[in-house]
Amino acid sequence: MNLILLGPPGAGKGTQAERLREDFGLPLISTGDILRSQVAEGTELGHEAKRYMDAGELVPDKVIVGMITERVGQGDARDGFLLDGFPRNIEQADALGEALTGLDRRLTAAMLIEAPDDELVRRLAGRRVCVKNPSHIYHVELDPPKHDGVCDQDGSRLIQRDDDSEETIRRRLEVYHSQTEPLIDYYDRAGLLRRFDGRRNPDEVHTHIRATVATLRLEEEL
Ligand SMILES: [Zn+2]
Repeated sequence: MNLILLGPPGAGKGTQAERLREDFGLPLISTGDILRSQVAEGTELGHEAKRYMDAGELVPDKVIVGMITERVGQGDARDGFLLDGFPRNIEQADALGEALTGLDRRLTAAMLIEAPDDELVRRLAGRRVCVKNPSHIYHVELDPPKHDGVCDQDGSRLIQRDDDSEETIRRRLEVYHSQTEPLIDYYDRAGLLRRFDGRRNPDEVHTHIRATVATLRLEEEL
């Protein structure tokens, strides 16, 4: 069960990835987590990544691919994994395919959670966080506080993070459309793509994905 999760920011990939990890006991591998842990552990790749990060540059594909390749070869990922946030472009997808072939394995499926841009912007731009405790999160439409701009739990002010500004979100969506969206075709042609409607509520999306993964697992066992 070697799975990847694809989809634009705000479509709910992170939420679904957490749930799938619980359902199927697959290790969840995210680029951000790997990067942080390798830098913290001071591995060779971690050092290399840190040089770019300290210089304010993006960590190049080659380094990221090296980290992911190493990670999927580790013991707990031997029976499968769930990749979130990787691959982000065709080059990374090619590299992942080669790495798996090298391990005598192959991808089981690429699961795509889709939603239209305007819906994604509405979800992300409506988010407000507490200045005192960033785990206190609200949404102006979907989960509003009792009093405008004030945290229900401690009365602190609520703010919109820079990451959640409409401008930043639109820019992230542009990057997604130009870099990552070509992967939809890429995996579709390989017969690996499974589509899910990210406009539905998270429980419905989860039920649908879980059923699909259960079926895939049965097919793998045959
Ligand atoms: Zn608060």
